[in-house]
Amino acid sequence: MKILISNDDGFQAPGIVALYDALKDLPDVEVEVVAPEHNNSAKSNALTLAAPLYVHLAHNGFRYVTGTPADCVHIALKGLLGYRPDLVVSGINNGANMGDDTIYSGTVGAAMEAYLFGIPAIAFSQIEKGWAHVDAAGQVARRLVEQVRRERMLEGAPWLLNVNVPNRPFDELKPVRVCRLGRRHAAEKVITQDSPRGETMYWIAGAGGAKDSGEGTDFHATAAGHVSLTPLQIDLTDHANLVHWRDSVARLAG
Ligand code: MN
Repeated sequence: MKILISNDDGFQAPGIVALYDALKDLPDVEVEVVAPEHNNSAKSNALTLAAPLYVHLAHNGFRYVTGTPADCVHIALKGLLGYRPDLVVSGINNGANMGDDTIYSGTVGAAMEAYLFGIPAIAFSQIEKGWAHVDAAGQVARRLVEQVRRERMLEGAPWLLNVNVPNRPFDELKPVRVCRLGRRHAAEKVITQDSPRGETMYWIAGAGGAKDSGEGTDFHATAAGHVSLTPLQIDLTDHANLVHWRDSVARLAG
């Protein structure tokens, strides 16, 4: 079994080291890391098209790329590795990727790039920033990878999972709950400052708080100490309103 690991926090982040350490000793498993050189949080599925990408080898064997998370997985799968991994895992991210976060997340973006190429993929994130109990999140990843292999889930149609882990010791984590995504309020107001040259600088501010954090959501499960697991899809079609739009467009045409 071959596993490719990437992330969005960069190849030196404690989260990707913990993920690698948790998976590298699994029996009959080969693990490779191809991750961004620098922090690429919130880069979603961005690809670098207007510049070349360079790949370097770090002392610990990780390869790092002068690009985005999706760049890393893209070039790994389309030339760099020379083989097709059975599974791609991304993370462990420094902070939650719940609800609307999944649209922006580079952690999810790296996993999604693999899924687009037909490979099963899992994005892992810790709820709080700062890496407290990151090894426990690594053990969650190890258990889940063991489980999908044992249940032969790597052999059928690909899937994409988004997993969020509360920052707790492993034996204080509650069982995995399968959740839908919650929703956040709109993001906070941008922060403005004056630059030393007298121009206004704009800083993107924090994500909004939870708006839909009801029963069944990732917000709800993780707040209660559970690991949340959400299967994701990438068809953005508004299926529920297809008929409505067909009628409206037909009236317009008439
Ligand atoms: Mn990140």
